[in-house]
Amino acid sequence: MSLDAVLARIDADLEPAVGRLLELLRIPSISTDPAYAGDCQEAADWLVRDLQALGFDASKRETPGHPMVVAHSKGEGPHILFYGHYDVQPVDPLDLWHTPPFEPALEETPRGTVIRGRGASDDKGQLMTFVEACRAWKAVHGELPGPITLFFEGEEESGSPSLVRFMKDNAGELTADIALICDTGMFGEETPAIVTRLRGMVREEITVTGPDKDLHSGMYGGIAVNPIRVLTRILGGLHDAEGRVTIPGFYDDIPELSNAQKAEWDDLGFSESEFLGAVGLSVPAGEKGRSGLEMIWSRPTAEINGISGGYTGAGFKTVLPSKAHAKVSFRLVEGQDPVKIDANFRAWFEAQLPEDCSATFSDPEGAAAGIMDTSHPVFEQARAALSDEWPQDAAYIGCGGSIPIAAYFKDILGMDALLTGFGKDDDALHSPNEKYDLESFHKGIRSWARVLDAVMR
Ligand SMILES: [Zn+2]
Repeated sequence: MSLDAVLARIDADLEPAVGRLLELLRIPSISTDPAYAGDCQEAADWLVRDLQALGFDASKRETPGHPMVVAHSKGEGPHILFYGHYDVQPVDPLDLWHTPPFEPALEETPRGTVIRGRGASDDKGQLMTFVEACRAWKAVHGELPGPITLFFEGEEESGSPSLVRFMKDNAGELTADIALICDTGMFGEETPAIVTRLRGMVREEITVTGPDKDLHSGMYGGIAVNPIRVLTRILGGLHDAEGRVTIPGFYDDIPELSNAQKAEWDDLGFSESEFLGAVGLSVPAGEKGRSGLEMIWSRPTAEINGISGGYTGAGFKTVLPSKAHAKVSFRLVEGQDPVKIDANFRAWFEAQLPEDCSATFSDPEGAAAGIMDTSHPVFEQARAALSDEWPQDAAYIGCGGSIPIAAYFKDILGMDALLTGFGKDDDALHSPNEKYDLESFHKGIRSWARVLDAVMR
């Protein structure tokens, strides 16, 4: 039972593995602040040294921004690309940290031992779970698990400006059978999760113009049209009483969830009241007849993100404004074409404008939803492997937001991506006092060992 030997090795070597992670966490690789460019280089160098020592053919690759780290190993089996990022978010407000963000340490808490420090979870702790699994494998088997490409980015937290260019320029080297992305979390405390659907998005900025100048409401009020009234009337009709978006064609090509997927989500025990209670709410505001998880993961939204116009400063000014503005965005799901959704929205909006009012729209920005093809065998192999490690079986879940890297792997390299990770909801990513549970790190390493054993066997 070589898997047992690898798992035993991981258990025995947990302390030095934590020690290596703490070393990496001490490097303040904040990508968005140019003052830390040297530290980003140092974090990349640290990874290259560690991977070379492990037997990977590893190198640092310069970009116009921070460097990438790319490493390869040879062997039998499907070619896997593993992605993570070594850069971290800024740490302010610093005074809210209980310990210095770049002096990481183990800390006992009422909920168990945690690794405290910036990047502990996002994403240094997560990426090291895979590296440590490879290390234990090598210690037991004498060689790395198989044909693996490691791809570590240093600009994820600052918009990935070099990523697309780098992927295009190095497509031959980076393309594998499947990509593994370790930058997401568990569903609750005990249920590992594989994200198989990501929502897309379209954004629009609208300006409605009425009179050609701001007017005095004493002189013009009653006879002149007010563009704020026009804008809010139209946008007020975006949803019907059932919570459905009223734009024609909005739901046209959206497939219904399979019964199996619906049942799996129902079994997750998601509590709408707990989820909403945490933000001071109690009543789900989405489409009637849909579960809370459907509302977040598999149904589209239309949201007004901001409205401005007229006078909003101190005191009062009885202005009848010339213009009114709004920012509107749509979270999109499988089947929805961002171009079509945007065109339908504009037509719907313009059709409701009164005479004397006009609307201009920004250049829309959008991306379609990402749906993973779970027919690749690695999905079920990974699901079984994760289920063996954790108290609850692994679930295929959705993600209400978008994770651009998954779309890039698909669009640029033609690879599906399996997104999983061992973060917890209370990890405080991007916030003061970020942590990673020691258990997440330990069981994360064991999880990857199981996945590698299943995939490479
Ligand atoms: Zn991240």
